[in-house]
Amino acid sequence: MSDQIQRFLFDQTNVRGEIVTLSNAYHEVLDRHAYPPAVNQLLGELLAAVALLTDTVKLDGTLSIEVRGQGELSLLMAESNPGGELRAIARIADGGALPSEHASFRDLVGDGQIVITLDPRGGNRYQGVVALDHDTLSGCLEAYFSQSEQLPTRLWLAADGERAGGLLLQRLPDASQNQDVDAWERSVHLADTIKSEELLGLEQREVLYRLYHEETVRVFEPKALRFGCTCSRERMSSGLLTLGGVELRDILREQGEINTQCHFCHTKYHYTAADIESLLDNPDAPSPTIH
Ligand SMILES: [Zn+2]
Repeated sequence: MSDQIQRFLFDQTNVRGEIVTLSNAYHEVLDRHAYPPAVNQLLGELLAAVALLTDTVKLDGTLSIEVRGQGELSLLMAESNPGGELRAIARIADGGALPSEHASFRDLVGDGQIVITLDPRGGNRYQGVVALDHDTLSGCLEAYFSQSEQLPTRLWLAADGERAGGLLLQRLPDASQNQDVDAWERSVHLADTIKSEELLGLEQREVLYRLYHEETVRVFEPKALRFGCTCSRERMSSGLLTLGGVELRDILREQGEINTQCHFCHTKYHYTAADIESLLDNPDAPSPTIH
């Protein structure tokens, strides 16, 4: 099964949807880390959610969902970029116990907030914040939609460490008077019957057929998704420069060089003392040496 997202709509109604399935992209994220199973599952749900949101708001840019909690799991973050690439990371609080396999979303993240950032290419950045006051990730994200998009939106998310999947339904404002008035309730009610195993194990068209074979569903071309990271030596260099010359020279005195790594993809970036000095002398220049 390929990593893809597919948009669909119900003919003659104001209901539209998205369905996403991730396998390779999810593995690429998990393979780079050794998170406990409960965290792996949440990261899968978050990856599915970030793909669904990006396509739903038709964003040409970068969209990130950050879950910032006070629990053992202090950060969960997933991000999409315009190339259909996804990346994600989790951070377990210092001294935090490893979450048990059956811990729920709220058990793991505790109180806090979800920050959703939309950064369109050539447009203005928009940030929305919702409190973590629902038991599930999908519940919190639904609250985000009702708050910021003001469109009734429902999400179903599933992940099992191997695959991640999600379904989103959204009711658009009534465009004509000739509407199927029950369409929203009916499509949500049917979606509520989907099992996680079905969302994760069946082809997308098969899921849609199982749920909606009595409806007229129009399905759009699927869009491919993959793992990808936007880190670069330039970005790493500007990150290092924020530490300041004093701190950087302290590290060089202790270690002789600076080795750093992208948290998302684990690409290593190496800086000699001469590299650091040239960065400090000329912070805006592109890095002259690639190691
Ligand atoms: Zn990276």
